[in-house]
Amino acid sequence: MKKKGAILAAVAVVILAAVIVCDFLFNKTVSDTFLAMNTTVSAELTGLKSEDALTQVKEKILYLDEKLLSRTNENSEIYSVNSGKTEVSNELASLLNVMKQLEKNSGGAFCIGVAQLTDLWGIGTEYARVPDEAEIKAAIKNCYDWQIDGNTVYLPEGVKLDLGAVGKGEACDHANSTVSFKNCKESVVAVGGSVLLHSTVPKALFKVGIRDPLGEANEYCAVLEIGEACVSTSGNYERFFEDESGKRYHHIFDPSTGYPADSGLMSVTVVTQSGTISDALSTACFVLGIEKSLPLLERYNAEAVFITEDKQIITTYGELENETVTVTNDIYTLGEAK
Ligand code: AMP
Ligand code: MG
Repeated sequence: MKKKGAILAAVAVVILAAVIVCDFLFNKTVSDTFLAMNTTVSAELTGLKSEDALTQVKEKILYLDEKLLSRTNENSEIYSVNSGKTEVSNELASLLNVMKQLEKNSGGAFCIGVAQLTDLWGIGTEYARVPDEAEIKAAIKNCYDWQIDGNTVYLPEGVKLDLGAVGKGEACDHANSTVSFKNCKESVVAVGGSVLLHSTVPKALFKVGIRDPLGEANEYCAVLEIGEACVSTSGNYERFFEDESGKRYHHIFDPSTGYPADSGLMSVTVVTQSGTISDALSTACFVLGIEKSLPLLERYNAEAVFITEDKQIITTYGELENETVTVTNDIYTLGEAK
């Protein structure tokens, strides 16, 4: 009898140990921070294969940056396109098709044919300046006329492509495929202003701070509580310069005027299931302003949080039960987009 009790106890200990080991392995959390796409990437993944997934996420983001999307890296495909190459990979062709669609759907507020304009203003570089009217007109001429047909790209004279508005969101999508394939339980991957929130737990909620446009880089003014999604923010504080009178010139341009967008916003945060779309929409909505953004957001099934120059936080969230926006800095007031 005593012997049977001892055996049972031993079995229980073994089972408990196995449960502890399994729990440890399945809930193994790994994290890393590295530089890519001119920004900091930080990833925290939990799951049995989290270590493997993290290595792949890092490799994929570096590959995207260096071999596909970077406009300044001579080894990247977009660099070759801007230098005259016309036949592109399926990967780039499908991204360019999405870009053309976004350009049309945003009424031209979003346009990747703005590389010349970005270079002309040089915002974020030591050469930043206010160009004269003629230079601006020349830089935006034909910017909408680039085309993608199958795997062939056509760039009019003087037009170059700039994927700076979507690269970080695209990186989140690649991270998403990897963590899903590796069955990670929970993953948060932040690529500059775009963040992937992924979980296998049904109805899991994440808290995301929205940066205070008037504060320092680590200060936020609102908290979003949302489910699995990609979240991208575009803001006038990311890259800018000020002239002698204190007027701020930031890096998000209205392609129809060639000047930094002036729609009364300091930032826009867009939440949707695709990183590429959330990143592109945050840029487009920054140009469009609140009212004109609403049909575009609806079209892509996206939600947004706008922060206006007069310190209002206007959100499209409202009726959803679980997902909330909470203002954490009382210089801002919360309102709903109508
Ligand atoms: P984001 O911070 O995602 O809004 O992206 C801003 C970057 O996208 C800029 O630094 C430019 O490289 C590029 N860009 C600026 N204006 C536009 C625009 N209207 N449409 C597409 N890309 C733009
Ligand atoms: Mg963007």
